[in-house]
Amino acid sequence: MSEEKSESKKLKEKLFVKKRSGAAVVSSEEMQKADAFCEEYKKFLDKSKTEREAVKYTIERAESLGFTEYDFTKSYQPGDKVYVNNRGKAVMLAVIGKNGTKNGVRLGIAHIDSPRVDLKPNPLYQSNDLAFFKTHYYGGIKKYQWPTVPLALHGVVALKDGTTADVMIGDGENDPCFVISDLLPHLAVDQMSKTMVKAFTGEHLNVLIGSRPFNSDEESENVKLNIMNLLFEKYGIVEEDFLSADLAMVPAFNAKDVGFDRSMIGAYGHDDKVCAYPAMMAAFDTDVPDSTIITVLTDREEIGSDGNTGMKSTYMIDFIADLAKADGVETRHVMAKSTCLSADVNAAFDPTYADAFEANNSCYLNNGAVITKYTGSGGKYSTSDASAEYMAQVRRVLDENNVLWQTGELGKVDGGGGGTIAKFVANLNADVVDLGVPVLSMHAPFEIVSKLDVYETYRALYVFYND
Ligand code: MN
Ligand code: MN
Repeated sequence: MSEEKSESKKLKEKLFVKKRSGAAVVSSEEMQKADAFCEEYKKFLDKSKTEREAVKYTIERAESLGFTEYDFTKSYQPGDKVYVNNRGKAVMLAVIGKNGTKNGVRLGIAHIDSPRVDLKPNPLYQSNDLAFFKTHYYGGIKKYQWPTVPLALHGVVALKDGTTADVMIGDGENDPCFVISDLLPHLAVDQMSKTMVKAFTGEHLNVLIGSRPFNSDEESENVKLNIMNLLFEKYGIVEEDFLSADLAMVPAFNAKDVGFDRSMIGAYGHDDKVCAYPAMMAAFDTDVPDSTIITVLTDREEIGSDGNTGMKSTYMIDFIADLAKADGVETRHVMAKSTCLSADVNAAFDPTYADAFEANNSCYLNNGAVITKYTGSGGKYSTSDASAEYMAQVRRVLDENNVLWQTGELGKVDGGGGGTIAKFVANLNADVVDLGVPVLSMHAPFEIVSKLDVYETYRALYVFYND
């Protein structure tokens, strides 16, 4: 038998897409780096369940690394590091490049809001001697996944005197938590015969928050009174203050390794902190880039990017306009030369639900960062669809730097769909493509990612900023 490769094998190697063998081709040193990177990522997750908390974490860490708050009246030199805080709910980190904005900027944009269950403006009520919060869900959730999950209350209450009270209760070892109840199977004959959409509606998502009355007075609503009294003692708030609050119920548990091999992380809010953290770290590790790099950690993506802290707002382009003005160039000329990685997650192929995916165009756990040329739905509606030329540029950079990457569509054609912030950046006349981490159980209270993919996404963003 000859040891030589057959003709067809040689030709295949030359012509076919290389089958990426994922984790199997990664050295143990690389894997150790990925594990170490993810230890810090898990700490970030535990401290950043809401966009406000993620902004706080990012700015604290940025300041410790020499970033200062941007001041448009000052002039900046290559290598200077600045940040812009948009209302405590979105943040931009910039490292000024040797060429400033003249040749365009490099944008890395991820979102730091995640699907959750917000409190209604008038949430507190008592029913049959139990106290509850009424809620209004935020983002695309499968409502049946949220009952019987331990929940924590996070957010702020703003008072008329201009002060705000930070609320975070439920995560600590000794904290109480909260929960949405579900019906026992014994009495669920009617419920179980309904479709999921009808069995669990928005108005079922009532959170149980107490059961003891204030005292034995015959006064009505004594359980509600007791809760309000506890909230007044702890936060100094009265019922009307709920009207000026951003309060959300989020899963009370912290990030945890998944699998005997600890190769994965299960946590709330991977979408999209799993791209926000690598983007932030890539910015922190960038010294003096050629072109100015801007990392945007944005809000409101899960509800369509509307609002002043979302990507439909002008906050990013206004910042770029200030930088361009300082460089003596026009914003429109900067944008036409700018490139962007929209760092967002994609749905990892799930063998249990293989029917929802098309195997040749899906992304897989442990195969690295996933490039998604377009998202949207139906006949490529509501997506920007990156150009062939820009795709070529991105894959060249990743290959030259040996980044593990793959491509994937979001499930089967006509299987549903979804979008990212990419199209809003494309509308500003920049080149943009989605790149991020494959996720299992996306938008569930406990989502799953591979540690290797998180690390490769960090590497992808780093080489993009420094190419
Ligand atoms: Mn996302
Ligand atoms: Mn999402």
